[in-house]
Amino acid sequence: MRTVITGGAGFIGSHLCDYLIEKGHQIICIDSLLTGKVENISHLMGNDQFRFIKHNVSDYIYVDGRVDNVLHFASPASPSDYLEFPIQTLKVGSLGTLHSLGLAKAKKARFLLASTSEVYGDPQIHPQREDYWGHVNPVGPRGVYDEAKRFAEAMTMAYHRYHGVDTRIVRIFNTYGPRMRVKDGRALPNFMCQALRGEDITVFGSGLQTRSFCYASDLVDGIYRLLLSNEHDPVNIGNPEEITICQLAREILALTGSKSKIIFKPLPVDDPKIRQPDISRAKMLLGWEPRVSREEGLRKTLGYFKDTLTSCEKNV
Ligand code: UDP
Repeated sequence: MRTVITGGAGFIGSHLCDYLIEKGHQIICIDSLLTGKVENISHLMGNDQFRFIKHNVSDYIYVDGRVDNVLHFASPASPSDYLEFPIQTLKVGSLGTLHSLGLAKAKKARFLLASTSEVYGDPQIHPQREDYWGHVNPVGPRGVYDEAKRFAEAMTMAYHRYHGVDTRIVRIFNTYGPRMRVKDGRALPNFMCQALRGEDITVFGSGLQTRSFCYASDLVDGIYRLLLSNEHDPVNIGNPEEITICQLAREILALTGSKSKIIFKPLPVDDPKIRQPDISRAKMLLGWEPRVSREEGLRKTLGYFKDTLTSCEKNV
């Protein structure tokens, strides 16, 4: 199998590179390095199953030779990133998806779109099932990501229906694990770094809003199963164990033994109040469900952030 992964140097993309190399794939990793990092794939450089191309897929993509799969994972994905790079986010979700689909069509390859729970917006149905159309503010600051991904899903289905491209759509819920950036901006890496540095833990709003956190290895396993399936409609992949953001902060404080204080900051505009995936379809169609408990996942991720912060401090 020869597999192109756009965004392959990102947090999830790089875990996918590792997983598929283990499965024997030849990987062509394309990344603009806007939010991805060479460090995430440096261990693969020199491996003859792996090739890296620094390229922004919002521009035309050229890949020589046969391609069997195109996995489109390129996009800023943390709210603070897509607020900083709104136009790039819209472009990679629209033009980047168009070019990735065009590549899949030209090569007669399978195509998999990394979509998101953000297509549900601030949901009025709970937990979120794939047949829920969502509650998104198109003109709010988060609209740049949410609408780009909704457009990407529509474009994927159009290429499937009108060009017969063999497509898949995964709706990814909150995911965490090693290789998240220290400055990622999302709650979990922020809280871990703040706790380890003895800084205040910044909870936005009341902290009663909920999320459901899936460990990266579980997510990648679900994505692989979806790729091998024949399912063209969207499939949620995420961990249905839902907690409040305050509870997440308390669990991280307990795990680190940190004396950091929790402080409250304003809630960002359009921040979803609740989020939990209904994973019945993933269970039924893919035989998938998450296996890594939050306790184990948080412990492993904390180990990674300890090492990363130590080496950051050494380099200062
Ligand atoms: N959040 C927080 N403190 C932070 C970062 C985020 O309380 O330092 C909140 C954020 O407002 C949201 C939740 O944590 O309600 C999850 O946010 P995150 O950025 O991790 O991802 P999202 O699920 O919103 O995409």
